Amino acid sequence: MELNEIPHKISYRKVKYSRLEFVTGELHIVLPYGADPEAVYRRHRRWVKKKHDFIEECKKVGAKRDLVKRTAQDFKKSVHACAEKASKELNVTVKKIGFRKMRTKWASCNSSGNITINRLMKDMPGELIDYVVYHEVSHLKQMRHNDKFWGIIAKKFPHYKELEKELSIYWFNLNS
Ligand SMILES: [Zn+2]
Repeated sequence: MELNEIPHKISYRKVKYSRLEFVTGELHIVLPYGADPEAVYRRHRRWVKKKHDFIEECKKVGAKRDLVKRTAQDFKKSVHACAEKASKELNVTVKKIGFRKMRTKWASCNSSGNITINRLMKDMPGELIDYVVYHEVSHLKQMRHNDKFWGIIAKKFPHYKELEKELSIYWFNLNS
């Protein structure tokens, strides 16, 4: 597969090393000034192909996933219920929950206890809503995605890797 067959964006920045990441299906390549994107791509070709194949699979499977039709009000209610349950279990305080449409993620959380939830989650299966909310509330124990964080998640959701994959599948379902 060649670079021009993959949706991508190249930017040059004052960085020491090149960086590649997929942001919701698009390959972002960040390069130091003067670097050759083709050469960088060739070095990471296998990684790119693996990610690209995963995304294609998610798109294919995602098109067949059913959605749960909820009202916006029911959705908000269930998010608040999940957050209340999670904050009790984890012994942390959620200050505020906001809802908005987000372009690159399902949710976010800051250290003061404010959680933002992507409105697109409205029609997702309940288990995934519960999982995303629990993830954000867990950040009040540990902000970074380190081993300690995933340990907290794994205790409650031993099958979290499966759920992460489902989230990718639903991402492409709900964003297409
Ligand atoms: Zn997180």
